[in-house]
Amino acid sequence: MKKLKVGAVVMVLLSFAFTFAPTVNATTPSSSSEVFRLYALDFDSVFVGQTAEVVDEDYEVYWCKYVIPIVVAVDEEFQQISYWVPWNINGLGWKDAVVNIIERADNFIYKKYGINFKIVGFTTWDSEDNPRWEPGKEMDQIRLEELANELNWKPEIKGKTILAGFTGQPLECCGREVWGIAFNPTENSTKALLMTTNCYWVDDNVFHHEISHILGIPYECEEDDCVMSYKEVYIDFWIEDSWIWYIGANVSWAFVSHNYCPECEAIVLEGVKPYANFMLYRRAPGYGARCVMPVGVFPK
Ligand SMILES: [Zn+2]
Ligand SMILES: [Zn+2]
Repeated sequence: MKKLKVGAVVMVLLSFAFTFAPTVNATTPSSSSEVFRLYALDFDSVFVGQTAEVVDEDYEVYWCKYVIPIVVAVDEEFQQISYWVPWNINGLGWKDAVVNIIERADNFIYKKYGINFKIVGFTTWDSEDNPRWEPGKEMDQIRLEELANELNWKPEIKGKTILAGFTGQPLECCGREVWGIAFNPTENSTKALLMTTNCYWVDDNVFHHEISHILGIPYECEEDDCVMSYKEVYIDFWIEDSWIWYIGANVSWAFVSHNYCPECEAIVLEGVKPYANFMLYRRAPGYGARCVMPVGVFPK
């Protein structure tokens, strides 16, 4: 169990988001009975390129220019967290915390490009407390592969749906603590990311950053004002959701920007094409059900 950190200066010493080539091997799911029991999502009800048609009045219909379905998986340590938020001193439970992070992560790109991250299911997994180190691998890589294996998250089975793992255990890479990791995008690669929480104003950026890797960006860029950028910028104070954090240090652009530089933008706009006109039907209750605008009203 890892304590939630809220110190702002500490995090500039940390880095996040290492990527690596997908090397997940197919294994038998060890806890399939747990998988998708919550909200029992019917993946067959996700269609590409179909026109809006309510198939069942119990279903909500989401219609965005791009809808990226996300299944959230939380490990047992993450389920213990109390997630600090500015407006609630008691903190949020894990499910509200995850919804908060993911719904904030796409606010900017939803307005600008019509890209909507949509949580379509929750599940749990039992993370290994003492994962065995394997030569040639980093610990965060091992943890991500463990997650993908545990939930049998293979492209041929899960298609385009992205698995977002949240762990309460620390992620380590190269002797440092890291905050997130994603499979490197290749054709038919596993679509999964793994992250831990660190601080309110950073967490949504970590999610946005990692999912952008899955959408096609294999590198960390060095441009100003880009969520993929490791270039640093001096931040005195940071204001987010009506709360002020004192930082007074250099931080990576990735921690504060939700923008894309032109090169990253071009890759992502190509990478989201398979998600265009995604029709998403699911039973209530919905999370962040704001995607009601018809295709065509977004700027190009
Ligand atoms: Zn990265
Ligand atoms: Zn960039």
